[in-house]
Amino acid sequence: MLPRRATRQVTVGDDRVGRVLIGGSAPVSVQTMCAGYTYDIDACVAEIERYAKAGADLVRVAVPERKDTEALAQIIPQVSVPIVADVHFHYQRALEAVESGVHKIRLNPGNISDRDQVNAVIDACKSRGIPIRIGVNEGSIIERKDKQRRAVELGQYFAGHRSGHLLAIMIAKLEEYLDIFRERDFHDIVISAKSMDAALVIDAYTEIAARFDYPLHLGVTHAGTRDTGSIRSVVALGSLLANGIGDTVRISYASDHIDEVKDAAEMLCCLGLRARKGVELVACPTCGRIQVDLFTLVKEVERTLMPRLELPMKVAVMGCIVNGPGEAEGADVAVFAGDRRGIIYVQGERVANVPEPEILNRLLAECLAFEAKVKRGEATLGQKVVKIVPPDPIGDLGSGHARIAAGLVQPVTVSQTH
Ligand code: SF4
Repeated sequence: MLPRRATRQVTVGDDRVGRVLIGGSAPVSVQTMCAGYTYDIDACVAEIERYAKAGADLVRVAVPERKDTEALAQIIPQVSVPIVADVHFHYQRALEAVESGVHKIRLNPGNISDRDQVNAVIDACKSRGIPIRIGVNEGSIIERKDKQRRAVELGQYFAGHRSGHLLAIMIAKLEEYLDIFRERDFHDIVISAKSMDAALVIDAYTEIAARFDYPLHLGVTHAGTRDTGSIRSVVALGSLLANGIGDTVRISYASDHIDEVKDAAEMLCCLGLRARKGVELVACPTCGRIQVDLFTLVKEVERTLMPRLELPMKVAVMGCIVNGPGEAEGADVAVFAGDRRGIIYVQGERVANVPEPEILNRLLAECLAFEAKVKRGEATLGQKVVKIVPPDPIGDLGSGHARIAAGLVQPVTVSQTH
């Protein structure tokens, strides 16, 4: 496992929905936010459950109006994951959400900064054991009410190094805000400091991690469409997580939020921070050696085969002999193509050689048969039975293994296991 930064731990949830731990040694949790109106109770419940089913551990809802916090009282008993109320501008919404049984509150220091109002929220949360996320966002950290201060902050923002000033303002706001919580001896806190700038996100969280021991909610905000947003998010969040920073994540971009959940879960699986649920699909990008319509095959595997399999088996779909045998060796079930045919392997053992039109059905049949064997205890995931010896493409140079065996290359110790 990757090393994790030591932090305090907060608990979000209750007996009915279960408790999600954030920080400490708890697994990194995945969050998303509802896109629909909270006051539309049935639709909101359906949306939350859709995200929960896709792998979200927590779901946040917006509560801009009183009708939203009132709806929470009916939504919360119907859902299966803890709910976070996203509060901006009106501290009363936080108090109402607490009354409605919400499991966590998010406050923005950029728009709820009155000390008495913050204290009222802290006291309400403290009496019910509800954590608060302090979410400092790039979009709302420049002072809005105090015109003089706004002029100074905007001047700094535009005058100097943009990220440096933003980071300094973010940290200053956070310090100032945290003082209110410390004075109240309230430490059930999660911190976030989001920006659309991936580099700033990395800098901000690295700095915050060095200064505070509260758990961190990672995110890149306003990240664009899924195409750009997923890359910005994974670059920033993946870098931080690989360095042990981050306790809960939200990937956010302008797309169906179900995609956010899937991308966040995949990122955590890739880093070895979450156990994979369902198939891990490996596929080659294709090149001038391809001998079947691999893109169509992979899409069909994704569409028809993956939803039918429950176990986290590794399935490889490879275009030719170059990397096909190597991937087949590491996969539970694999197909590699050759001359309009597909050669199928199950845990390293060749089981079929079929014409292109039959590849999908045969692959599905082999996957289902293998899954049934695993369930009966007759096979184990990730264990190859037969060693495939692929043709050596290196020729006279020999393989890396041979060079290591001859003492010419030192084996490298890796820091993580998968
Ligand atoms: S597996 Fe074969 S077809 Fe696929 S990218 Fe590699 S060399 Fe090309």
